[in-house]
Amino acid sequence: MNAPARPQARANVLAIDAYVPGRHAATGGTKTYKLSANETPLGPSAKAIAAFQAAAATLELYPEGSARRLREAIASRYGLDPARIICGCGSDDLLNLLALAYTGPDREAIITEHGFAVYKIAVQAMGGTPVIVPERDLTANVDAILAAVTPRTSVVFLANPNNPTGTYLPHAEVKRLQAGLPADVLLVLDAAYAEYVRTNDYSSGLELVSESDNVVMTRTFSKIHGLGALRLGWLYGPAHVCDALNRIRGPFNTNGPAIEAGIAAVGDAAHMERSIAHNTQWLGWLADELGRLGLAVTPSVGNFLLVTFPREPGRTAAEADAFLLDHGLVLRGVAGYGLPDALRLTVGTEEANRLVVATLTTFMGRPPRG
Ligand SMILES: *Cc1c(COP(=O)(O)O)cnc(C)c1O
Repeated sequence: MNAPARPQARANVLAIDAYVPGRHAATGGTKTYKLSANETPLGPSAKAIAAFQAAAATLELYPEGSARRLREAIASRYGLDPARIICGCGSDDLLNLLALAYTGPDREAIITEHGFAVYKIAVQAMGGTPVIVPERDLTANVDAILAAVTPRTSVVFLANPNNPTGTYLPHAEVKRLQAGLPADVLLVLDAAYAEYVRTNDYSSGLELVSESDNVVMTRTFSKIHGLGALRLGWLYGPAHVCDALNRIRGPFNTNGPAIEAGIAAVGDAAHMERSIAHNTQWLGWLADELGRLGLAVTPSVGNFLLVTFPREPGRTAAEADAFLLDHGLVLRGVAGYGLPDALRLTVGTEEANRLVVATLTTFMGRPPRG
């Protein structure tokens, strides 16, 4: 009757809660420490920066659309088939392409309770139905995922390790998940933090991709490689999945300077080793120190920690967040992930890490309110 006099977005699009990125700005302190987006405190490889700068000389040229040289560099680093790698504008781009190709009306996608927020948005955008399954101890639960499978299930999204919890599934559990899924369900393993994991029961999923027809693994240059600004990610998948995605991806979905920086970054193993060593040392230190303050720290294998605060007035996560911001420390609130009592802390420089512990020591030592 009353046709609205303006263009109408699809209802499934308007039902989406937009992604809330980590904040940038503090409210106090003489210096700002951004510990809200899991960026590496070491920054990118000097070789990647040099390659990026050299690329400034040819900005008028379109990039090679399939990022062939970058795919070859990744393939030789990990022993993969370059034809089965797709690069994208961040792994977000690839996750959206997977949702576009494999979800949609009448299709369900399984996502874990505190799974990375991008999956749900991507599925909803395509008109698919996100099915959220419970976790156990803030960790993905294979039995719950398998129990949620229906004839309409087309994709399972699993961040391993997961953001924002930092928890992971051992390889044996991922294999059990894949073995329990119907052959027509695509298992998407988002391994954005794979390089940081130091436990020997973990695998990013590369072998599983090679051994099966329904597993895809995604990676990013935004975390260990320190190239978040360039928006660069890649996936490894079966040839039939790559064929589908190559039909719908933007023809130039990775930009020229990002390709050059990415090639240099995967080639700089020494820089990656330094980043891993720094993270391993300070992740453990932060977990110990914050635990000693009486905070609940979820064991993490990534480059960040989920820290849960008491519900007592004066000691809540929201109050801690405000207190930290006043001291120049920007953490990530995770209420949007159903974790209102927690903050996510990225492992920073030694200076930032020590300041976080000192500031939270003061915060927890204040006389209780109320
Ligand atoms: C940071 C992150 C990504 C990376 O996204 P980009 O688009 O590549 O920057 C992907 N998945 C998870 C779980 C992440 O935390």
